[in-house]
Amino acid sequence: MTSLQEPAKHLKAKAMKPGGRRPAKELCSECGLCDTYYIHYVKEACAFLNQQIAELEAEAHGRRRNLDNWDDVYFGVHQDMMQAKKKQPIEGAQWTGIVSTIAIEMLNRGLVEGVVCVQNSKEDRFQPQPVIARTPEEILAARVNKPTLSPNLSILEQIEQSNLKKLLVIGVGCQIQALRSVEKELGLEKLYVLGTPCVDNVTRAGLQKFLETTSKSPDTVVYYEFMQDFRVHFKHEDGSLETVPFFGLNTKELKNIFAPSCLSCFDYVNSLADLVVGYMGATFGWQWIVVRNETGQFMLDLVRDQLDTQPVIAQGNRKQAVQQSIPAYDKAVTLPMWAAKLMGVVIDKIGPRGLEYARFSIDSHFTRNYLYVKRNHPEKLDAHVPDFAKKIVEQYHLPNS
Ligand code: FAD
Ligand code: SF4
Repeated sequence: MTSLQEPAKHLKAKAMKPGGRRPAKELCSECGLCDTYYIHYVKEACAFLNQQIAELEAEAHGRRRNLDNWDDVYFGVHQDMMQAKKKQPIEGAQWTGIVSTIAIEMLNRGLVEGVVCVQNSKEDRFQPQPVIARTPEEILAARVNKPTLSPNLSILEQIEQSNLKKLLVIGVGCQIQALRSVEKELGLEKLYVLGTPCVDNVTRAGLQKFLETTSKSPDTVVYYEFMQDFRVHFKHEDGSLETVPFFGLNTKELKNIFAPSCLSCFDYVNSLADLVVGYMGATFGWQWIVVRNETGQFMLDLVRDQLDTQPVIAQGNRKQAVQQSIPAYDKAVTLPMWAAKLMGVVIDKIGPRGLEYARFSIDSHFTRNYLYVKRNHPEKLDAHVPDFAKKIVEQYHLPNS
């Protein structure tokens, strides 16, 4: 046992220099842990060196996923799910600003002393700048996605140094997995975790390529999202909206932009957050809320009167579309724009909706990522792919090599 006088072991460790090759090598998602002395725990904590979702679920939520329950298999441990939107949306938020609103409410009520979130650099609206926000204005300045790998955990040393005891962390799956792993070492009295789903993230250079390949005006994009209507929606500086059908994306050009970490990730739904706010399990225009435990319920209740809510729905059948997407992705099939638009319209009318759309997206990404790990890191396949993901992938016929 460590005596009171003896400093914690990690204090003697040294953060890595910027640009240095990280322990997870090309699979590193730049979560930020290795930018701090908590690198001491990297072998255990890194989501790409030691996948331990089931063990951490049991610690964070009191139980693991029930693999006999398909909702658990897909969406993780949860006690409630719903669709929601803010009655008065926050201008400039990614969706309606539920994430920022919860964070502001927790700070205003004194439940936390700081909020880990991501602003952008002065020069570049998409360059992530993790901060510990101490005012509502600083939280609001972090609204909207920075759709790039973001070293959120690089602020971990500041927590200990500023003697913070009650903290809210906002983050995506790989960041939260490492955070949960070192949670006990942070000296906190209470940690709240507000997660978003995350998929297909890119480096800043990869994002530039995506914007230049896909949008008519890459320099004026302020926001984009892969929407439930099977189109990418780009919002521009002048408020105009540009939409591009998924099936018309230049797959050949774009196949290589996704970060290898994201091509080998199976924590799309942010399994270890107390509360998850996304959109993919909701119908168009609504956000999707997953309450994982009592802490998550408490956080949601703080803003409940500011939200319209409705139950989740599931319509359609995704299976055939997923099976067809597997060889199409491998062959980098791109449809001519007229056919892509037509296909988008048809699928939007008869395709999967609500939770079935979320399952469609999870299935397509997990089958692709399973093949990626099998082909590029076969020695990691068995331990790195969680059991719930194996169960999802087993529903489909995959190429042998
Ligand atoms: P806002 O109030 O606008 O707040 C957004 C919050 O996100 C801010 O607090 C900010 O700190 C944080 N943030 C921004 N960029 C990052 C980053 N790079 N890493 C960590 N935190 C960040 N939802 C889905 O349902 N399906 C998806 O496929 C999906 N992909 C996503 C990919 C990324 C990279 C991110 C960041 C989010 C993704 N989401 C996805 C979540 C969704 O896009 C919205 O962020 C979520 O619904 C919250 O919207 P909001 O209006 O409440 O957020
Ligand atoms: Fe370190 Fe995070 Fe990269 Fe893993 S993903 S090597 S913990 S910075």
